[in-house]
Amino acid sequence: MNSSTLRTKNSKIECSQTLFNKANSYIPGGVNSPVRSFRSVNGDPIFMEHGSGAYLYDVDGNEYIDYLCSWGPLILGHANPKVVEQVKLAIENGLGFGTATEIEIHIAAKICEYMPNIEMIRMVNSGTEATMTAIRVARAYTQRNKIIKFTGCYHGHSDSLLVNAGSGALTLGVPSSPGVPEDLVQHTLVADFNDLSSVEACFKQYANDIAGIIVEPVAGNMNCILGKKQFLQGLRELCDHYQSVLIFDEVMSGFRVTLGGAQNYYNIKPDLTTLGKVIGGGLPVGAFGGKKVIMETLSPLGPVYQAGTLSGNPVAMTAGLTTLQQLHKPGFYTELQRLTQRLLEGLQKIAANYHIPFTTNQAYSMFGFFFTDCEQVTNYKQATEVNIDHFKQFFHGMLNAGVYFAPSAFETGFISSAHTDKHIDATLNAAEHIFKKLK
Ligand code: PLP
Repeated sequence: MNSSTLRTKNSKIECSQTLFNKANSYIPGGVNSPVRSFRSVNGDPIFMEHGSGAYLYDVDGNEYIDYLCSWGPLILGHANPKVVEQVKLAIENGLGFGTATEIEIHIAAKICEYMPNIEMIRMVNSGTEATMTAIRVARAYTQRNKIIKFTGCYHGHSDSLLVNAGSGALTLGVPSSPGVPEDLVQHTLVADFNDLSSVEACFKQYANDIAGIIVEPVAGNMNCILGKKQFLQGLRELCDHYQSVLIFDEVMSGFRVTLGGAQNYYNIKPDLTTLGKVIGGGLPVGAFGGKKVIMETLSPLGPVYQAGTLSGNPVAMTAGLTTLQQLHKPGFYTELQRLTQRLLEGLQKIAANYHIPFTTNQAYSMFGFFFTDCEQVTNYKQATEVNIDHFKQFFHGMLNAGVYFAPSAFETGFISSAHTDKHIDATLNAAEHIFKKLK
C-alpha cells in the first residue's frame, strides 16, 4: 500500500524519524497529546502528511486505512468534500470575530433537535472544557460539592476529573497526575463502571453532598465498553432520588451511537450532556447542554462563570454543522454499524482459527478489540487484564501492512462513512497474516 506519488509530489518532506527527532527538541515527548507518542506500543510516532476519505498518508510515503478517524470526530472520513467546501467559504468571510454570529444558532438548534434532552447548549473549544464546566454548573445548581466518576472513564484533563484511583465505592479521589493537589480532588468520588452497588455506596455515605454523576454511557477510554442499560438506568434513578445531576459525557459517543447519541440508544434522559469530536467535524469544538433550568445558571443569565475567546467561532461551527447535516441520510448509521460488525466478526473468526484469545465490543461505529479469553468485556478490570504483548504485535503488524489502529490497547476504534467493504476486506486480509504470526 505504498504511495510513491506522495514522495515525488512533495519531495521536501522529511521522514517521520527525522521529524520526531526535531520535534523532541521543542515539544515534550515530540507530541502535543501523549497517546500519539506510541510509547505504549514501544515505538516512535508516524508523522502524517494528509488524509483523504478512509485513508491516512504519512510523510514517508505510506498509505493507511485509518481506524483512528482523528480519535472519533471524522465520522465522514478525511477531508469530506462538503465540509472542506463550506469551511473554505467560511474562512473567506473571516476567521472569527469574537461576536455573536448566526451560524452558532444553526448548530445549537440542530444539536437540540437531534438530542431533545438538550434544551439549551453552549459551545466551547474542547471536550475537556465541556466536562469541566458541566461539573461546575452541576455543583452550582445543586449547591453541593462532590461528584462521582468511574474508574477508567476519561473526561478530559481538568483537575477535578483527572482522578482514576482504585476501584471500589467510597474510594476518595487520588490524583492521576502530579500537579493536581489532593485537596482539589477530595470531592471526586470514584466508583466502578457497570457496578451500581459501588455508586449506591457513595450515595449512602455522602447523600446530601453529591452534586452529580458524570459517566461515559459507552466508555471509550478504557478500550470500548458499553454501559449496561440497567446500570445507566440505575444512575438515573439514584440521581432522581438524591436530586443530583446526571451528566452523560457523550464527547465520544455523541452522534456516533445513533444520531441522538447513547442517550437515545439507551432511552435514558441525562440532565446535562457534554459533546465534542463529531460536532466539530475535525476542528476544535466542544459543547455542553441540557435542562434549561440548569443551563440558565450560566453567565450572563446566572452567576456561574464560563467564557471562551474562540468559542463558537464561525469556521469550527461551519465544519460541525456541515458534518451534522450529512448524518441524517436514511441508513447512514446502519451502514456504519454493518461495516463495523463485519470487521469485528472477521477479526474474531481469524483469531478463533488461530486459537488466539480475542473478543470484541461494538457500539455502532465505535469498536474495541481485546486480546483476552474473557467472553465479553464489561468493566475496567477485564479491559486492563488483556495480553498487551499480543496487542503490540498485532498493532505493529497491521501498521506495517497499511492499517492504522489507535496506538494503545486501551482506546476505541472508529469507522467512517468513507470506509467501504473494500477496506474491511483489505484489513481482514492483513489481519490473517498477523494472527498467523501471533500464534
Ligand atoms: N470526554 C470524553 C468521553 C473523551 O473521550 C474525551 C477525549 O477523548 C474528552 C472528554 C476530552 O475531550 P478533548 O480531548 O477534546 O479535551
